[in-house]
Amino acid sequence: MTSTDSTGALVKAEIDVAALRANAAVLAERLAPARLKCVVKANAYGHGIDIVARGLFAAGWRDFCVATISEALHLRESLGEEATITAWLYGPSTDLEAALAARIELGVSTVDSIDRIRDAARSTNTVARVHLKVDTGLGRNGLAPADWATALEKLRVLGSDTESAADAEPAVDVEPAVEPAVEPAVEPSLEIVGLMSHYAVADEPERVETSQQTQVFDSAHRELTAVLDGAQGRLGESERLEVHIANSPAALTLSPLPGTSARVGLSLYGLSPLEDKDAHDLGLVPVMRLVSHVVNLKDIPSGHGASYGLTFTARTDTRFALVPGGYGDGIARTASNRAEVSIRGTRYPVVGRIAMDQMIVEVGAGEVAIGDEVVIFGPDGPSAAEWGAWADTINYEIVTRISDRVDRVEVSK
Ligand SMILES: *Cc1c(COP(=O)(O)O)cnc(C)c1O
Repeated sequence: MTSTDSTGALVKAEIDVAALRANAAVLAERLAPARLKCVVKANAYGHGIDIVARGLFAAGWRDFCVATISEALHLRESLGEEATITAWLYGPSTDLEAALAARIELGVSTVDSIDRIRDAARSTNTVARVHLKVDTGLGRNGLAPADWATALEKLRVLGSDTESAADAEPAVDVEPAVEPAVEPAVEPSLEIVGLMSHYAVADEPERVETSQQTQVFDSAHRELTAVLDGAQGRLGESERLEVHIANSPAALTLSPLPGTSARVGLSLYGLSPLEDKDAHDLGLVPVMRLVSHVVNLKDIPSGHGASYGLTFTARTDTRFALVPGGYGDGIARTASNRAEVSIRGTRYPVVGRIAMDQMIVEVGAGEVAIGDEVVIFGPDGPSAAEWGAWADTINYEIVTRISDRVDRVEVSK
């Protein structure tokens, strides 16, 4: 039994990088021939983006996705130039020049952003690599059908001979001798490298909407192919287009898997997105182990209450263990009076309200000592999915909400 470590951290998230790499290998094999894009948004689902992304990079993975530009810029710093980084969530005031200067590939979900990206590409003297994102039914981000048609028309014009010739020709006089002899392979400021979408109900395999979304996606793919082929290479090559719609639940349930790659987040971290299968069923190992320690232990007489509101009352003489870890660490208060933790391999209930910094665990006559390690969740304790049920949420949120106060510590088992 270890005691609190020398840094004084009371709650630690141990990140098992060996498990992470094993999960990536299992998923990549399942996806093949489609390729794995590692989704590390939201601080790698709370696991710590630097530990996770560097751990995957060192194992040979090169393709990473995040939501925001600031996440993407951080990742570029962390991984260096060799990684491919895609980001898809930004707004009208986001600095796209910084993204392009850092060679971030961008999802395109509005017609306006095509112009903004072209402008940013020109002013940074880069070729923007973009993934058109089509809304196939989720109703969240992505080009809705009418906008999709408008975007394709815009691209058709951009890819036409005359338009790209006008674009390529600077307005100022240039010595004819220094004119490039060959035409640029792509429209100078924009290359369409991908087509993407996102499923709404892939975690419920019996629902018909997933195949309907796939059909819409396939027809968008045909339409985009026609536009790219018509532009004769000026907007990118249709045969090289990266096509991706699958997330974790789709990657684990659909066969054949649509697309040339899949954007996988949750299952990389060894968590199941499916109601009826746990990590073990899927050949995955949970990567995060959230631990704390018993810092106080007291005898409690029958009738004594626990924590704010005294929502729990001891029914017998018992013992309470005090465990650092509360909603300030990202542990869900809604799991109060429902959650369990594991000490020396035995499950004990969390009693009373989970507070900002600490929780009370009723250990009764169990063999527990001050300094004992407490597994809040992890492979040898309750699962993040159980915490999800106790907290009226999902395992995705349980790990992602773990706050900055918690030290992420890399371990390799
Ligand atoms: C978060 C996200 C993913 C990853 O989803 P998982 O279910 O965690 O695999 C993929 N694509 C988009 C657009 C996302 O927002």
